[in-house]
Amino acid sequence: MSLSASQVTIGIAAAALVSFAAYRTKSLTADGAVAAFAVGALVFGIGGLPYSVPILTFFITSSLLSAVGRTRKQRLYSRPVRYDPRNAWQVVANGGIPAFIVCAAALLPPGATPSSRDWFLLYLSALASANADTWATEIGTLAPGRPVHITTFRPVLPGTSGAVSLLGTLAGLAGAAAVTVSGWLAWPEGSELLVWRMDVAEGLAVLWAGFLGSLTDSVLGATIQAMYECARCGKVVETGRHCGAPARLLSGRRWVTNDAVNALASLAAVAAAWILLRYFAWPLK
Ligand SMILES: [Zn+2]
Repeated sequence: MSLSASQVTIGIAAAALVSFAAYRTKSLTADGAVAAFAVGALVFGIGGLPYSVPILTFFITSSLLSAVGRTRKQRLYSRPVRYDPRNAWQVVANGGIPAFIVCAAALLPPGATPSSRDWFLLYLSALASANADTWATEIGTLAPGRPVHITTFRPVLPGTSGAVSLLGTLAGLAGAAAVTVSGWLAWPEGSELLVWRMDVAEGLAVLWAGFLGSLTDSVLGATIQAMYECARCGKVVETGRHCGAPARLLSGRRWVTNDAVNALASLAAVAAAWILLRYFAWPLK
């Protein structure tokens, strides 16, 4: 990875611009914008264009999709958090692992394992997972009919943690594919170990890893994620406070917030990508 003063300067300026625009359009809270600036400055400044295009694909499409059908979602949704601007924890839950990977790839001595090629594909997998989860949630919530619970297969309300539908699942696959394609388009060609653009087997590994990450998100959301019942309005929510009062824990573990689930799902995607690349994609060469 080549680092230059101009790339770092442009990266920091672009991160400031994007996070400020997201704050002004209410996609991010003030602390969310600060966190997004930190993630953006690292990714844009250190990773340059190849690393920037996939994370922008995730950020821009998820911001746009959350605006689609907002009134219908607000009416249906049992978890109002998603419509609120994203805070710092939500940004770090989705952007922390990608930012860590960019730094790890930059600090890597030549010839080390994972190689720069590994890191770039793992980076794409973490973002493919986050994008799959977001697309599945935002589009799946608009699906007609009732989704089913991922572990019990019982019909549940749209927007419930662990709710899955056919449309949502297809949207998740499309979300993972969008990040994979963006990575192929922005491929850092020419640098050592990255000489060849991502091939079909590697692309499929990233796509599946992203999809498996989003499935992990649904399963963890349905099982160990903390769910509460509001003492005032009776809604099932995923935050410990609702309507200005502490809510009662219904299921899951108190420390397993939705942000923790998102971070764990990203890690699962990275692990799945590592296995799929090593044992399925590369032996094909
Ligand atoms: Zn309430």
